Formats: sequence, C-alpha cells, structure tokens
Amino acid sequence: MQKLAQRWKRAGVNIGLVPTMGYLHEGHLSLVREARKQVGSKGKVAVSIYVNPTQFAPTEDLARYPRDLRRDLTLLRALGVDVVFTPDDAEMYPGKNENRFTTYVVEENLSRVMEGASRPAHFQGVTTVVAKLFNLVLPEVAVFGQKDYQQAAIIRRMVADLNFPVKIVVAPTGREPDGLAMSSRNKYLDAGQRAEAVILFHALQAARAAVAKKTVSAARLKKDLQVFFTAAPLARVDYIEFFHPETLQPVRHVKPGVHMALAVFFGKTRLIDNVRL
Ligand code: AMP
Repeated sequence: MQKLAQRWKRAGVNIGLVPTMGYLHEGHLSLVREARKQVGSKGKVAVSIYVNPTQFAPTEDLARYPRDLRRDLTLLRALGVDVVFTPDDAEMYPGKNENRFTTYVVEENLSRVMEGASRPAHFQGVTTVVAKLFNLVLPEVAVFGQKDYQQAAIIRRMVADLNFPVKIVVAPTGREPDGLAMSSRNKYLDAGQRAEAVILFHALQAARAAVAKKTVSAARLKKDLQVFFTAAPLARVDYIEFFHPETLQPVRHVKPGVHMALAVFFGKTRLIDNVRL
C-alpha cells in the first residue's frame, strides 16, 4: 500500500482516504463519495477495511463484529474506488503478541470524556491505527463521519499536534428513514430492539426542541431525557452529555450551538449518536 501511494505521489496524484471497519452501509458510501469530490476524477480514492483489535476492549464485540468483504468490495467497485486496503493483524501489529509492537499514539485530553470514559483504551487504538493508515496511504485528505463526533475531534487534534499533512473532512451522519443513525452494529438488533432504537434520534430532537425556546440546565435536561427513555424499556442509557463542540468539555447550560451526544445499550449492543443543538 505504501509503495503504491508513494508511486501515486511521485506522479503528483492526490489521495483521499476513507478508513472503515467494513460491513459497509450508505453512511460509509457517502464518505467515499465525499473523498472522490475532494480529490477529483484525477485523484485516487483509497478505502481501508480493518477491524482494528486495539480499539476494542477484551469484553467488547471484536470477534463477532460483522464482516462481509465480498459485499463491501462490490459496493466500492461500483463507486469507482481506486484501492481497497485490507490489512490483517499480523501486518498491522507485527510481533504484538511477543511484545515487539510497543508504540502507540495517545491523545490525552479529548479522549477522557464520553466514549473514552466508557471505553478506556478505545481512542488510543483509534489514533494509533489512523496514524498508521496515514503513513501507509499518504493521503492529502481523509474523510470521517460526524456519527463518531468525538473520534473526528480527536483525529483533528492528533493531525494538528503531530503535523500530519492531511486535511480532515467530516461528513454528515447517514440515517435510516426513521432517523436511526446507520451503523454496522445495527445488525445486532432484534426486531424489538430495532423498533426502540429510534429513541436515540428522538432524544436528540427532543433536546433540540427544548433548547430552541430557552436555555435549559444540563442537569434538568438529562433528567427529562432519562424519563423520555422509560418509553423504551429495552434501552439502557450509558451516557447523555452536553458539551462544547471543540473542547468537548461539559456545559452547565444548554442552548443552541451546544453539542449533544449519547450512548445507549440494547442488550449487549451499544449505539451512539450526536447532534449540534
Ligand atoms: P466504522 O466502520 O464504524 O469504523 O466507520 C468508519 C467511518 O464511517 C467513520 O469515520 C465513521 O464515523 C463513519 N460512519 C459510520 N457510520 C456513519 C453514518 N451513519 N454516517 C456517516 N458516517 C458514518
């Protein structure tokens, strides 16, 4: 991959990268279209498909994470993607089991809250694999989804802090017709859970409506939303946060412009969503 990217660069070709864990849905494909828009018809679009083990805790769903490489390749071919990079663990983390892979990229501020609080080593795995992908694919531009808002903020910070010559583009969240954010993990939901899962989107909309007229305290709004969630008995809220869109620090008073994110369990399946209020 790196040799190919170097060849492209020597020829003056711009490279756009979309990192994914595969099991692609329309949300991913919208990022691929954005990457093509960014690099143009003379540029090259690269998509990586890699279920990165270092961003999963031992208790999480690494082994059962959905995979369908043949289907993914068909979808990407139809979009005119130039290369799909599908490394395996031995290529990405050589010698890891024998303690010969020992360098990680750690963002130390934005990673502490929300997803980072619930999933302690998660973002260290993300920043490390994205840094590796940037060094392998040598993109001018990389496209991430707003669906993982905190992840995008951390990648931006990493790129600024470590001087990666990569433009980060964040594309809007693709949603199902009822509003549920598209996610590879939606596949885990049974029919009852799927019917209730739209409550994440409804909670975001309810919060937006609540703050449109007047500023509300974050504590009050969280309590109201907890009550809102009693309408979905299969849902177990992990967190609901209101925070500054850049610093990700929690705010006490919620008004338009504040960002909201939430994580909710349905059984073992953990769904996330977010929106600018
Ligand atoms: P994943 O395969 O879940 O690691 O996601 C790969 C990329 O696709 C990340 O940048 C995600 O933020 C993005 N993504 C995932 N779901 C969506 C969605 N529903 N809409 C837009 N982008 C998404």
